[in-house]
Amino acid sequence: MLRGESKITTSHLRRLAIIYVRQSTLAQVRGNTESTARQYGLAGDAARMGWAASAIEVIDADLGISGRSADNRAGFKEVVARVCLGEVGAIFGLEVSRLARSNADLSKLLELARLTETLVIDTDGVYDLADFNDRILLGLKGQMSEAELHILAGRLQGARRAAAARGDLRVPLPVGYVYDDEGATVMDPDEEVRAAVADVFAAFATTGSAYGVAGTFDGRRFPKRAYGGPWAGELRWGRLTYSRAHDILTNPAYAGTYVSGRFRSRRAVLPDGTIHSRTVELLRPEWATVFAGHHPGYITWETFLATEARLVANQTSAGARPPREGGALCQGIIYCGGCGRAMTAHYSVGNDYYDCAQSRANHTRTSSCRSVQAARVDAAVAGLLLGAISGDELALALAATDEVTARRARSTRAGELAVERARYQADRAERALLAVEPENRLVARSLENRLEARLGELAEAEAALATQRTAIVPLPPRAEIEAAVANLGQLWAAPTTSHRDRKRLLRTLIADITLIPGPDHAKVRIGVRWHAGTTEELIVQRPHRVYEDRRTTTDVLALARRLGPEMDNATLAGALNTAGHRTATGRAFDANAASSLRRYHKLGAPELLDAGELTAGDVARRLGVTTSTVTTWVHPWPAPRSKRPLQPLVHPLLARARANLARLPHRLPPSAR
Ligand SMILES: [Zn+2]
Repeated sequence: MLRGESKITTSHLRRLAIIYVRQSTLAQVRGNTESTARQYGLAGDAARMGWAASAIEVIDADLGISGRSADNRAGFKEVVARVCLGEVGAIFGLEVSRLARSNADLSKLLELARLTETLVIDTDGVYDLADFNDRILLGLKGQMSEAELHILAGRLQGARRAAAARGDLRVPLPVGYVYDDEGATVMDPDEEVRAAVADVFAAFATTGSAYGVAGTFDGRRFPKRAYGGPWAGELRWGRLTYSRAHDILTNPAYAGTYVSGRFRSRRAVLPDGTIHSRTVELLRPEWATVFAGHHPGYITWETFLATEARLVANQTSAGARPPREGGALCQGIIYCGGCGRAMTAHYSVGNDYYDCAQSRANHTRTSSCRSVQAARVDAAVAGLLLGAISGDELALALAATDEVTARRARSTRAGELAVERARYQADRAERALLAVEPENRLVARSLENRLEARLGELAEAEAALATQRTAIVPLPPRAEIEAAVANLGQLWAAPTTSHRDRKRLLRTLIADITLIPGPDHAKVRIGVRWHAGTTEELIVQRPHRVYEDRRTTTDVLALARRLGPEMDNATLAGALNTAGHRTATGRAFDANAASSLRRYHKLGAPELLDAGELTAGDVARRLGVTTSTVTTWVHPWPAPRSKRPLQPLVHPLLARARANLARLPHRLPPSAR
């Protein structure tokens, strides 16, 4: 007999008894089966207290869903809705506080229960919300439960934070690291794993982007440690995706640094009122613990910072302008001195140019903004750059080639290790097969299959290594490299040097380039700012603009102005040719050229009509139809319509028009008939 069972009346019993079953997490559902069983057992209690079996309902839609808020919890929402409708006589739960973990949700439910005279029953007793004492008691229980959670969470978090501050908090390690027997972080003893991780950083040094790294690993497998699930702790091999490459490059653990508090969960209220939490990465100064030299690193902290800076510079969405494939050398670092905007490189066949205003909707060009041919600027800047690089750089370049050689050795090293691993596995499978008793045929068959699979993997690894080896273009002999470096100009111009490489070289020395506005339009002033801080100015001749070259001479225009009003286009063209003139592009004038000249310079139409002659427009006005209708009559469909400008309409044509008119009366408006 439960405390307060006398509060149950026939009014309650006539309505439903709802058993609300809830477990916060799936782990609890799996592990804490007893609690779940006890919750379902409440149905028996309800029957004992007098509810008919048909009036007892179990709501368990929220199993495995956290009770922190009512969102996503269909079961809790259903309980609330049905209490609202007044169809519930009592809500059963193991503990009132378990109905809803958030106090706000709970008090809402309790308030509704009070209004609809719904009882709340837990293992301690029966509560009638209309009773002031019961209400106080339930409210208190809810608050106690919240406080308990708070204290528990505080203790757990406190212990974790203290461990993290010492660098002792055991967290899942990124691939390439494992815990040793003493719990210290060490590099993975598996040499192939170590080589693969080291290659990620080597590939970044070569390609300069996370996409480049992922591309380098295309067709090559990459290790991954599984966390949780059936494969927990095991090494799996898969593809190196862009996002994994990015994660590895930005993970400070690879620089031997222990970091905690790099991510934080932030909650946000969405417009529809639901609360969502997501994980955000904090900025470096906000990290709670940064413990440099905590364990051996694959890279140094300096390299980590440089990588980070380079990745940021690659982010075009954040305004960065990394070097692109296009030929315009100064792309990304050239600015307009007129308006201060970054200039965009525009590519068109044989005539790339820089411009500050084009393709920008909200930017109008200022009077000193210039669009300029890329070739002129690039040639001047490249000349300046090559002139600035002296023989001192030779040693640096040779060091770079040595590094490339070493890196290549490393990249095949990983392939060799993969072959070694596969051979070891195949040997093991073979030994196992040899060890089995011949009578044990079932086992022998499965071992045979395994050996076959292992041999297949070995062949695959060997093939991959072979392709990797053949894919490597041999480096030229050192003497050749020395000669090439000595003659940097040739190397710069070589077709094998990519635009991107040229741009990278440019950017290592030059910070930015500004086109300085000046009064002389024929000259381009180029301001160059070196990373070292000094600035220089170059002046190049601007090429003639196309329309300047093509401008019609004043003589032609004067003659055309004089003759134009008197002659038709063909006659005008003849007169211009006779006078020895040519068009802007150097050809003889024809009727079309004369017509363009007339239109462009507004020379006016020739007065060629005799007395009584009419133009198509005149006819159209008289007949109340459009000019194009008249043209159709003159050149009746389906005869092809002339594309030439309409010639003045003369008598015979008008007669034909009339004849056509008579044949097509239905096409005429009533007024014209
Ligand atoms: Zn500008």
